[in-house]
Amino acid sequence: MSSTVMVIPIFLLFLFFALVVPVLVGVYVYRDAKARGMDAVLWTIIAVLAPSLIGLIVYLVVRSSNNTRRCAQCGAQVSAEFASCPYCGAQLRNCCPNCKQAVEAGWRNCPHCGAQLPEMQELYTQPPKNKLPVWLLAVIIAVPVLILLMFLGLAIFNFARF
Ligand SMILES: [Zn+2]
Ligand SMILES: [Zn+2]
Repeated sequence: MSSTVMVIPIFLLFLFFALVVPVLVGVYVYRDAKARGMDAVLWTIIAVLAPSLIGLIVYLVVRSSNNTRRCAQCGAQVSAEFASCPYCGAQLRNCCPNCKQAVEAGWRNCPHCGAQLPEMQELYTQPPKNKLPVWLLAVIIAVPVLILLMFLGLAIFNFARF
C-alpha cells in the first residue's frame, strides 16, 4: 500500500516534464519566434521534441544572434537593420528627417548629425524583449518543487505510521 502511494509523485513529475513543460515551452517559442520573423513551426517542433528543455536553450541561443523581422505591411522577412522594406517600401524604422539614419523612438536628437528630432512613434517592427517570461520560469521551477515536497510529505507520513 505505502509503496503504491509513493509512486504518485514520481508519476506526476514524469507527467509534468513529459507533457506540461513541452506544451508551455511550445506555446512560448511559437509566439516568440513568430514575433521575430523566425520559422515559428520549425522552432516549436525543435523546442517541444528535444528532451528536458534542451530545445528551449538552443532556441534562446539562436534567437540572440537572429536579427530578422517580418515587415508589418507585406510579411516579408527583412533584416533588423533595414530602415524600409525592400519588397514593399514600408517604413521599418524611424529615421532622422535630416540625415535619414535610423533613430529610436523617444530620442530627442539625432546621434548621427545632431539635428533635433520630431516626436517619433514606436513602430510595430521593434523587437520583442529578449527575456524569458516570468510565468514560464515560475512554472518550470515551482511545480517540481511542489511535487518533491509532496513526495517528502508522503515519505514522512509513511515513516511515522511504523
Ligand atoms: Zn514589406
Ligand atoms: Zn540625423
